[in-house]
Amino acid sequence: MANLRQLFLQNIAQTSVAPLMLQIERAEGMYLYDPDGKAYLDLIAGIGVSGLGHRHPRVVEAAKAQLDQYLHTLVYGEFVLAPQVRLAELLARHLPDPLDSVYFVNSGTEATEGAMKLAKRHTGRFEIVACKKAYHGSTQGAASLMWPKDFTQAFHPLLPGIRHIEYNCEWCLQQITEQTAAVVVETVQGEWGIRPPAEGYLKKLRQRCSEVGALLILDEIQAGYGRTGSLFAFEQYGIVPDILLLAKGMGGGMPIGAFVASREVMSCLSFDPPLGHITTFGGHPVCCAAALATLETLLESDLIQQVKSKEKLFLELLRHPAIVEVRSAGLWLAVELESFDVVQAVIQYCLRQGLITDWFLFNDRSLRIAPPLIITEAQIRWACGVILEAIEQRIRN
Ligand code: PMP
Repeated sequence: MANLRQLFLQNIAQTSVAPLMLQIERAEGMYLYDPDGKAYLDLIAGIGVSGLGHRHPRVVEAAKAQLDQYLHTLVYGEFVLAPQVRLAELLARHLPDPLDSVYFVNSGTEATEGAMKLAKRHTGRFEIVACKKAYHGSTQGAASLMWPKDFTQAFHPLLPGIRHIEYNCEWCLQQITEQTAAVVVETVQGEWGIRPPAEGYLKKLRQRCSEVGALLILDEIQAGYGRTGSLFAFEQYGIVPDILLLAKGMGGGMPIGAFVASREVMSCLSFDPPLGHITTFGGHPVCCAAALATLETLLESDLIQQVKSKEKLFLELLRHPAIVEVRSAGLWLAVELESFDVVQAVIQYCLRQGLITDWFLFNDRSLRIAPPLIITEAQIRWACGVILEAIEQRIRN
C-alpha cells in the first residue's frame, strides 16, 4: 500500500504546483501537529478561518451536541431549525439596520453567487462592478469578478456585463451608473496583499451606489469576525452595505457562509420566481451550531479588543532592511519582500521551524500573516523571530 503522501498526489485532485504536503494528525488552539508529534504554530488560521484557534472546546461541544439531535432534515428554508434561527437572530442583533435577513450557504463563493443574483433580481439590472485584484470566489459567477484575467481566461465565456474598476480610485466611481445592479467590494482587499480603503473612499462609494440605485455588496468573507479589530470591518468606516458576505471564520472551522440583506431586499427571492435561490445543505444544523458557539464565544471574550495591540506588536517586531513594506488591517498582515523566490524561501524555512505562513493569490511577493485571534504576545514574538531569521538565512545563502 502506498503511503498517504503518494496517495494524496495520486487520488486528490491537484491544483497547486507546489503543495505544502504537511501531514496533519491533529489540531488544537494555535497549533497543528504532524504524525511525529511535531507542533506547527498556525500563523494563517487555515486562510482566515480559525479565529478562535483550532477545535475551540465550545465549538466542538456545540457541534457534538447537534450531532446527537439531528443532521440534515430538509432543504433550506422549510423547517424551523433552532441553531439556524438563533444564529441568524444573533447576527442580526449585531448588525446595523437594515441588515436583518440572513441567507445561509456553504461557502464564500456561494455567498457571492447568491448576492449577485439577489442584486440582479432586486434592481432588474444585470451589470456588476467589481474591483481589480479582488477575490470573491472560484465558481463561474464569482470568478467573473476576478481580475487579472490570467486566472479566468481559460474558462471564458463567463458572465457578461462585468465592469472592473481600480480599488481606492475615487474618479473611477463614475463608472457606477443607473445600469449597475451592484458593486462588489472587499472592505479591505485581502488577496492583493492587504490593502485597506483610503480615507473617505468607502463613504464615496456608498454615496455613489445610493445615487444611482446600485446595491453595495461588501465582501467580508476573509475580513470577517473580528480580524480587523471590529466584529465587521465596515463598522470602522462609517458605512452600511446593502448586502454583506460572510464565510470562512464564521463557522469556527465548519463550512458555512451567508449573504445578509434587509428583509425587504431579500424578500424578492420568494416571488417571480418563488424559490429564487435554492440550497440543500446551506445552513446545515451542525455548521450553524458551531457558528453560533463561535460568535457567542467571540462576543463574550475581549479578543476583538486585543486585535489592535497585537497588530502593533507585529508591526514593531517585523523590521528588517530586506522588508520592503508591511501592510496591515488588524491581525491581517502582508510582509512585502523582494521577490516571489524570497517569499517561498521564507515560507519553507518557517515550515521547517514549525511555523505556518503563506503568500497571497494576487501578490506573491508578500508573506501572509493572519493568525487565530487567540495568538499570545509570546507566540507573536517567537513567530516574528523565526520570520526574521528566515529572511537573514535567505540573504546569507
Ligand atoms: N471572498 C474572499 C474575500 C475570500 O478571501 C474568499 C476565499 N479566499 C472567498 C470570497 C471565497 O470563499 P470560499 O473559498 O469559501 O468559496
